[in-house]
Amino acid sequence: GGQLLLSVLLFTTLIGSFMYLLKTIRKQNQLAILRKSFVNNMTHELKTPVATVMAAIEAIQRFVAKDDKEKMHKYLEISKGELEHLNAMIERVLQLDVDETHRIRLEKRQIDLVPLVANSIETARVGTRKPITFHFAHDLDRLLLRADESHMKNVVSNLLDNAIKYSGDSVYIVVGLEEADECIELSIADRGKGIEAEHIKYVFDMFYRVPQGHLHEVKGFGLGLAYVKQVVEQHGGSIQVVSEVGKGSTFTLKIPKEK
Ligand code: ADP
Repeated sequence: GGQLLLSVLLFTTLIGSFMYLLKTIRKQNQLAILRKSFVNNMTHELKTPVATVMAAIEAIQRFVAKDDKEKMHKYLEISKGELEHLNAMIERVLQLDVDETHRIRLEKRQIDLVPLVANSIETARVGTRKPITFHFAHDLDRLLLRADESHMKNVVSNLLDNAIKYSGDSVYIVVGLEEADECIELSIADRGKGIEAEHIKYVFDMFYRVPQGHLHEVKGFGLGLAYVKQVVEQHGGSIQVVSEVGKGSTFTLKIPKEK
């Protein structure tokens, strides 16, 4: 009897260890895949400014020989701008406090979304020279949600910044905040340039930017929406976008209320 029990125990222990090993290997593989796609994207995104700076330096070398101060100055400015862009990108990637499974570390507590959104609108208004008309529609004076305050602020300001960036000279934005039975709903609608149907499914991908000729006139890293999506999903929510070229875009996020 004792011997049988011992064999069964040994067997289950062995199976258990084996399963654990399998699980670890699978997790490592997933991590490796994630890391690989991250590195691939990152490499592409880093190469562009490096190539620009390289070309600018070669131009400067030519203009030094010709003693053309004006051109030298111009290409130094271009290099400086590109390096600042690179620096901001590196900061942004390093800043994120993520755990070993690439999830952002959240600190949730009860927050009121009404002042959070109102403050983000004011910050966005101050941060741009474009004239902006905002409409902030909310039925309630308070809208409480258990969430990470600083990441939620970033989410709202990312969406507002995009609405401004991808609008023309005059900006019209409608922000809606509603409470449903099970979730809260936040929408940010602009009357900007819109997104073509073929690109819309990629805008939440890391480093994806809708192609716009050779030089993107609007600065960005293509990280904002990927970040927004991850934060929203880590709160158990979802984000979607409806857009029409020339008419504008509406980003709507839903976050369930925790019981
Ligand atoms: P970034 O703005 O830094 O390029 P995002 O991840 O925030 O990166 O957005 C990805 C792309 O989606 C942008 O490059 C832009 O082409 C498109 N996009 C995002 N928001 C809007 C918007 N409100 N209107 C039009 N296009 C947008």
